[in-house]
Amino acid sequence: MSYAFMNGEFLPLAEAKVGVMTHALHYGTSVFEGIRGNWNPEEEKMFIFQPREHYRRFLQGCKVLRMSLPYTAEELSRITVELVERSGYQQDIYIRPLAFKGTERVAVLKLQDLEDSLVIFTIPFGAYMDLEAAANCCTSSWRRIEDTMIPPSSKIGGLYVNSVLAKTEATLAGFDEAILLTQEGYVSEGTGENIFMVMDGKLVTPSTSDNILAGITRNAVIQLARNELGLETVERKVRRSELYAADECFLTGTAAHLTPVGHIDNYKIGSGDIGPVTRELQSLYFDVIRGRISKYLHWCTPVSNTVAKAYP
Ligand code: PMP
Repeated sequence: MSYAFMNGEFLPLAEAKVGVMTHALHYGTSVFEGIRGNWNPEEEKMFIFQPREHYRRFLQGCKVLRMSLPYTAEELSRITVELVERSGYQQDIYIRPLAFKGTERVAVLKLQDLEDSLVIFTIPFGAYMDLEAAANCCTSSWRRIEDTMIPPSSKIGGLYVNSVLAKTEATLAGFDEAILLTQEGYVSEGTGENIFMVMDGKLVTPSTSDNILAGITRNAVIQLARNELGLETVERKVRRSELYAADECFLTGTAAHLTPVGHIDNYKIGSGDIGPVTRELQSLYFDVIRGRISKYLHWCTPVSNTVAKAYP
């Protein structure tokens, strides 16, 4: 069953509610995270992927919105373990922490005058994008929000209108996903994913100065590529036309995992199918997030599924 941790207590998700005048609902004044719990059927165990890293990014976003939560990243991780234990799911789950300005007043108020609220909840969550078929992407006519507008290095609620507009435009035009460019026209990222190219035996990905969210998956993939495949990643400015000439291309994200890209703007990327480097990284990454590779077990926080029975 889905539970929420809200205002310091655990309760069934259906009971976690806010009023219609909540500031964040009107003005996007929230910060969120997306964390996955990956079910390992052989061990009958849930592995939460890099919760502390997610919560560190979460707390940085809270700082930008001048929120002060009474928890450290370590404490939020412990609360999350308890939440996952209580829910007792034996399948892949998504964990959504959300900090928001909960004051119920209609006005563009100063951040420092608004109350901070926190909710964390878990829901069952399977594949977000098709991981086998290579995605058909387009570059978006919407440009990526700049750091001078809303900092894209945090998952701030209002920022995601940019992603939703791009995703909507792309899917209405028959594509699976949009790739946003910066104001200058360089490649930034997908609507909820970072983007990588395979080029001349290296990985290439836009750098953090191109208004990306520095993904936890992006970082994991950079390390796996270096340690296990001997592939270095170059973080630099990427021109849109370079995407079309790449040997392979893939997207990374907590929800999207590692999604191959087959076409961009109707250009075939490599063979147009899932490429060999993408496939190798994908299978490595799936083993890592399910706690199957001891070398990377420190990236996973195991949760036993036996505890749920102890809760009503
Ligand atoms: N970019 C954006 C805009 C995102 O929303 C996400 C998803 N959190 C990512 C990139 C990928 O980040 P991560 O790998 O940490 O999920």
